[in-house]
Amino acid sequence: MIVEMLSGTSMDDYPLTLTSIVERAERYHADQDVISRRPSGAISRTTFGACARRARRLAGALADLGVGSGDRVATLLWNQSEHLELYFAVPAMGAVIHTLNPRLFPDELAFIVGDAQDKVIVVDESLLDVFESFRTAHDFSHVVVVNHSGDAVDTESLDYESLLSGADPVELPALDERLAAAMCYTSGTTGRPKGVVYSHRALTLHSLVAALPDQLEVSARDTVLPVVPMFHANAWGLPYAAALAGARLVLPGPRLDPESVLDLCASEHVTMTAGVPTVWMGMLAALDAEPERWELSELDRLIVGGAAVPRSMFEGFDRHGLTVIQAWGMTETAPLGAVCRRPARLDDGPRDDQYRYRTRQGVASPFFDIRARDENGQAVAWDDAAMGELEVRGPWVAASYHGGRGAENFTPDGWFKTGDVVRIDTYGCIRICDRSKDLVKSGGEWISSVDLENHLMSHPAVAQAAVIAVPDDRWGERPLAVVSLRDGATASPEELREHLAQDLAKWQLPDRFEFMEALPCTATGKFKKTELRTRFVSA
Ligand code: AMP
Repeated sequence: MIVEMLSGTSMDDYPLTLTSIVERAERYHADQDVISRRPSGAISRTTFGACARRARRLAGALADLGVGSGDRVATLLWNQSEHLELYFAVPAMGAVIHTLNPRLFPDELAFIVGDAQDKVIVVDESLLDVFESFRTAHDFSHVVVVNHSGDAVDTESLDYESLLSGADPVELPALDERLAAAMCYTSGTTGRPKGVVYSHRALTLHSLVAALPDQLEVSARDTVLPVVPMFHANAWGLPYAAALAGARLVLPGPRLDPESVLDLCASEHVTMTAGVPTVWMGMLAALDAEPERWELSELDRLIVGGAAVPRSMFEGFDRHGLTVIQAWGMTETAPLGAVCRRPARLDDGPRDDQYRYRTRQGVASPFFDIRARDENGQAVAWDDAAMGELEVRGPWVAASYHGGRGAENFTPDGWFKTGDVVRIDTYGCIRICDRSKDLVKSGGEWISSVDLENHLMSHPAVAQAAVIAVPDDRWGERPLAVVSLRDGATASPEELREHLAQDLAKWQLPDRFEFMEALPCTATGKFKKTELRTRFVSA
């Protein structure tokens, strides 16, 4: 395909597709290790070459099942080599990989698979109970089970290995770079989760930028362990970045307790790892308790994001000679948007200044435009004082949600409104100060304040309810419910928790309830959450 001469260049209009990444891994990094820890704890070893060859067979098998261009293939899998094979096969055959988060409530999963119109689903056998909880909600054409136990899969499902062994490898087709490659849902403030559909071009450019030295920094000399799940915004792009660069890839499966992750870091000589702060809090406590237990001299950096990283975490890991680097991103941004690397000007500066800098969310990635606007729509100055909502745009930023929902999150001039309220310094480094979206982020997963409030207000004794996020050492944030009861009515926190537990998952329930005569309201009748935060957050 040659650019028409009218465009004035003589460059090849080569498409930016994930197929190039798969083919590169197959050709140049064929011997590089891909290591998976199974739910049993057993380690299985394969290579990028073998994964890519199996991906070609998988593409053939899925085509035989009727999967065509643009069809969605859902995955309910951990970080494991089969998931990587699907990351390779599905986009490269022209279909769309839709990663499902097994921690969501069955009702949400049922909605999501229906909204995405998933055709086939691939499930790890350890997640079959989660699958059963929403299986009947949607008519999948085929269910494929990744089976480690050797037990026969049920008669209505297909066995992943048998499917592969019965299929011929296929030639990967030439694809348009704007074709959909992958899909992921994000929980919204109100209403149902919304789907983000990533194009080949977006994920290819994201992989290139993620691998850069001052970004996530992925090279052929790295051993990368994504603790961040492959169902969370493409595991922050690390599987594709590792395949592109030829880094060793260690996929930890479902066991993410601190000891298991540290064991794997030590035994597999991991050089970089990535995940949300909650995971590292536990690791830090384990390291503090037994500093000599793990040999981690090769572990060069821990990329931490998805929620704010407290200063104590930087200090704590520094004591063990381990470097934490904060990154910021969103499902809607594929996810990488900013990385906080200490700039050279602070190398010899006071430690206090260095820590203060590192707790910021960072400087925007290349090709990623940022701006902050106040409630009047005026751009705020980059003076580290004025606050505004962060808006972003770029080649891997969503321009809409699947099905056109959530249009209010996009500005008329084409920027995505993040819902994060920030200050930006003169160097362009972002600091998140507040959140305009009504959500609580607990252990990297969202809890909708609005959902909790609606459910609480459906209790006969409750007149008003507002839910706010309170900082929590382990989970980052936890929900706190402020409730006012109807005249003469009574309800204990236990009773309200039980009421919520009928419809919500246990980890979503507030740990703390506070009771007030009446909740403070704004002139427009909204609860004044800022006032509630001031009153209860430090209490
Ligand atoms: P998600 O789409 O689930 O990945 O969530 C994205 C949101 O997580 C962002 O809009 C922020 O509110 C929050 N977030 C992500 N990274 C950070 C960070 N480094 N610091 C504070 N909040 C973060």
